[in-house]
Amino acid sequence: MRQVHSLVAGQWVAPGSGARAISSAITGDVIAEAGNDTLDVHLMRTHAREVGGPALRAMSFHDRARMLKAVAMYLRDHRQTLYDLSFDTGATQADHLIDVDGGIGTMLVFASKGRREMPDGHVYLDGVTEQLGRSGQFQGRHVCTPLQGVAVHINAFNFPVWGMLEKIAPCLLAGMPAIVKPATATSYVTEACVRLIQSSGLLPKGALQLIAGGTGDLLDHLDCQDVVTFTGSVNTALTLRKNENLLANGVRFTAEQDSLNASVLGPDAVPGTTEFDLFVKEVIQEMTTKAGQKCTAIRRVMVPAMQTEAVIDAVRARLSDVSVGDPRAEGTQMGALVSNAQKNDVLDKVTQIGAEAERLCGDPDAFAMSGSKGAFLPPMLFHCADPDTAQAVHNVEAFGPVSTIMPYRDLDHAAALLNRGKGSLVASIVTHDADAARQITLASACFHGRLYFNNRDSMTEATGHGAPLPHMVHGGPGRAGGGEELGGIRAVLHYMQRTAIQGSPDILSGITGQWVPGAVEATEAAHPFTRPFGDLRIGDTLHSAARQITLEDIETFAHFTGDTFYAHMDDDAARANPFFPGRVAHGYLLLSFAAGLFVQPDPGPVLANTGLDNLRFMKPVEAGDSIRVRLTVKAKTPRNDDYGEVRWHVTLLNQNEEVAAEYELLTMNAH
Ligand code: NAP
Repeated sequence: MRQVHSLVAGQWVAPGSGARAISSAITGDVIAEAGNDTLDVHLMRTHAREVGGPALRAMSFHDRARMLKAVAMYLRDHRQTLYDLSFDTGATQADHLIDVDGGIGTMLVFASKGRREMPDGHVYLDGVTEQLGRSGQFQGRHVCTPLQGVAVHINAFNFPVWGMLEKIAPCLLAGMPAIVKPATATSYVTEACVRLIQSSGLLPKGALQLIAGGTGDLLDHLDCQDVVTFTGSVNTALTLRKNENLLANGVRFTAEQDSLNASVLGPDAVPGTTEFDLFVKEVIQEMTTKAGQKCTAIRRVMVPAMQTEAVIDAVRARLSDVSVGDPRAEGTQMGALVSNAQKNDVLDKVTQIGAEAERLCGDPDAFAMSGSKGAFLPPMLFHCADPDTAQAVHNVEAFGPVSTIMPYRDLDHAAALLNRGKGSLVASIVTHDADAARQITLASACFHGRLYFNNRDSMTEATGHGAPLPHMVHGGPGRAGGGEELGGIRAVLHYMQRTAIQGSPDILSGITGQWVPGAVEATEAAHPFTRPFGDLRIGDTLHSAARQITLEDIETFAHFTGDTFYAHMDDDAARANPFFPGRVAHGYLLLSFAAGLFVQPDPGPVLANTGLDNLRFMKPVEAGDSIRVRLTVKAKTPRNDDYGEVRWHVTLLNQNEEVAAEYELLTMNAH
């Protein structure tokens, strides 16, 4: 029998008193045990805070992003171990791809976003600099820094790998250590994954620990620097939310609970359309993947009343082809539920749904696997003819291969039914009608964490109703828990504190690592374009010579480019315009002259100009005016071993020292 160990302060600790037996979903035999009442959870918290946290915070965001990538690649190389073990959870090879490969892919996205969207430093900047005083000598900026406690991740049984990786990726990227507590039923798979990570040696000591079994009184000792993220049932979430210590100390608590997700067949998607077939395919997929044990699975299938029969026929026909059985066997499309306890729970919920909806297919006592000791169930499809008076179909989550078809009259009715779920992770709408999509969005988006629209145009690239993507928010309001996970860098910020910093430009520059106007400038004899990436310092500034703009310049540019817009060519027409005193120079002419004023033309470290950000033309420039340029290194971001990105703050000043234009120039500079 497999002993599922915990990882406590770098030591693997075997199950002990209070250990629980874990059965195979396929055979019902006990295959493992996990849990130890005497686990020193206080040592775990101290180890995370005193060893893991400081080590992670000493690394920059880019260091941690590179670390995530390396861990993900290591897991990819060793994923077969995880596949082999996961069969006993009832999952098929296709399910493993979602759990194992999906988790690794999520980690890779955070690794990539960390390098691209976060600085190579220790402070993440949120929003823009705010000028708080009249002359710019008192400014404000929001900064985010990692919390100094530990993140306790409590996960559900259905995704033992993805569930852990999608939480630790943003957490470690933020710079916060994690204690992971998987659901006991599938903890042996999570343990194997943690062992792989541990053996890779890629994480600093104390960055990741594992509790197999109960958390003891860990939650009673957390404080405002700690975070609890929970995924699981609404009942457990309620128990944990009420923890007095979490409430008293304002411990961050995020919950991803259950959800009565729905899919709507658009009124335009009649039988014979691509959308109709797509809808049927997604319903089948959501009912059978992971044997319906997916928090995002479609529980409620909403169809225009006149299409009810057609949808029932199509879904029932496809479900009859689904082969349920041993997930290791070739041809099996749907495996088992995680345990017989889970199976019984689903059967109990099915009885409640069956009181108000007619079962169309799926008899648990008469299908290929009836009589097996494993936790097998057939896909069960219901039809609720009166969804307005029904209660259970909108409130009871049967966490298995169970869905209910219900008719709607019009889009307002469909939205009202969607909203009866009282908050969900995702709702999908299969339609080719943008007006219908907009109507549903306005009437129902605030009830869902995600709206997924699919049709003939998006179908080849669409990722599926049930797939949470690392780039997009996962979570939902109300019943779904009110939490948000994933969603790109938003997820990282859950493990950081946002602080408003107020002070002089120099103070802000020093803290943020970015030059802000008004902060001290450094001028070097050598032109900044001649200095390699590593030699440039934040605040290095070049002041160019001035150049006078002539009417001939404006006309030459107009005829050369074809931009003979009246503001540049017709004095009377320009004067009639509220923005111009008369004919003015083209903004693009000014940008071109600016480049001519600041570049150093010889081959050197500047490899390419890759763009402009935040361009504003602020004061018109007329013939006879002159401009000069102030070019300052605002920020630097290493990209690879060869070069890094330099963000220059560029200001065009006229002869009266008024700002004519301002923008940020991006260049790639060799190291
Ligand atoms: P669960 O029974 O609520 O358990 C969830 C986790 O909480 C498990 O790790 C469990 O550990 C732990 N737990 C239970 N009591 C605890 C306590 N007093 N203190 C600390 N931890 C405690 O849920 P489940 O059966 O594993 O998962 C199924 C549910 O999760 C479904 O309702 C599904 O919709 C939901 N789910 C939601 C999402 C989402 O992203 N929104 C994702 C997946 C699943 P033990 O296993 O050791 O009891």
